[in-house]
Amino acid sequence: MGGQRPEIARNDLTALFQSSIPSEQIKWNHKLLSVSRTPGVSSGRFKLSFLVGEGEETEEVADILIGADGAWSKTRLLLTNTKPHFSTVSCITLTIPHVSSHPALAAMIGQGSFYASGEKKAVIAQRESLDSARIYAMLSSFDETYLTTSGLEQAAKDPQEIKKMLLGSEGLFSSWGEGIKDLLTAGCDAGTEFEVTAKPLYMLPVGFQWEHVDGVTIIGDAAHLMTPFAGEGVNCGMLDALELSRCLVDGFANGVEVVDGKLRAFEQNMWQRMTGVAQETWDNLEVIFAEDAPDGFVKVMESHGPRPEEY
Ligand SMILES: Cc1cc2nc3c(=O)[nH]c(=O)nc-3n(C[C@H](O)[C@H](O)[C@H](O)COP(=O)(O)OP(=O)(O)OC[C@H]3O[C@@H](n4cnc5c(N)ncnc54)[C@H](O)[C@@H]3O)c2cc1C
Repeated sequence: MGGQRPEIARNDLTALFQSSIPSEQIKWNHKLLSVSRTPGVSSGRFKLSFLVGEGEETEEVADILIGADGAWSKTRLLLTNTKPHFSTVSCITLTIPHVSSHPALAAMIGQGSFYASGEKKAVIAQRESLDSARIYAMLSSFDETYLTTSGLEQAAKDPQEIKKMLLGSEGLFSSWGEGIKDLLTAGCDAGTEFEVTAKPLYMLPVGFQWEHVDGVTIIGDAAHLMTPFAGEGVNCGMLDALELSRCLVDGFANGVEVVDGKLRAFEQNMWQRMTGVAQETWDNLEVIFAEDAPDGFVKVMESHGPRPEEY
């Protein structure tokens, strides 16, 4: 794709955080079970219940609560009844651990992402850290239970079974190009080493907002879960974190009573910024799985700049 879009692998990002946050401020192995408001309590407006490891439960209180707890956010339940809905696309994820040992596949993927789509299906490949590549086999269907009813969910537990369902004589991708089949083959063959997953993709409504609740907000997928078809989820989550941190630093510098106003302003700004991204993501999903695919998506890509071979 054109332009210089910075990418960072999840492990590198985690290492970066750990190198700058005092270790005692990070509580590993704490699963948030529920969050509730504690009216009338002098300190701590929110009560958080955690499961620690496999065993005990513990509680914490907080004046300001920031939920960065992903698609199925528990924090979001304080703000809205809206839940993510099925996007119409289901995704089988494969991994090629050492992609440079497959030079033809490495060249096909390039340094960024590779997309192929048609027949309401898509194969997307993406470079990851440590010389690996992720391969996504995407399938469009209005049936949220498609992966279960088709047997793909069960097959994903056995690399040879999923390979048969994707590439066997009646396989979902058996009539696709050799390069794409090689990508899927390499991913299935590594399935004994790297887990193959089969999951429906969910999303929040485009333009999703909520009534502000004092002292709490959500960021990242918790606030704007999208499908990956614009590749913007992480970028947007990181920008949320940056903008919110500025609001909080500014708010606390001017007295805790102004923090709520800053949170409101942050949310307004995030909603405005996210509506276009969420719409673009949905539009991309529609063209990738359209009857005439990949023509529409080729046009979308061309609108971003020249084809790679024209650089
Ligand atoms: C198949 C696929 C491909 C994608 N590809 C891209 C891409 O190429 N580029 C891109 O920008 N985005 C991509 N995305 C989207 C991207 O993964 C998300 O937007 C991003 O991970 C959101 O970050 P987040 O921190 O908000 O949520 P998450 O990454 O989901 O992190 C949430 C964190 O909260 C923790 N958590 C959740 N619930 C609890 C709980 N109850 N207690 C304690 N902890 C909890 C989780 O363990 C996790 O660590 C893709 C998504 C999918 C599904």
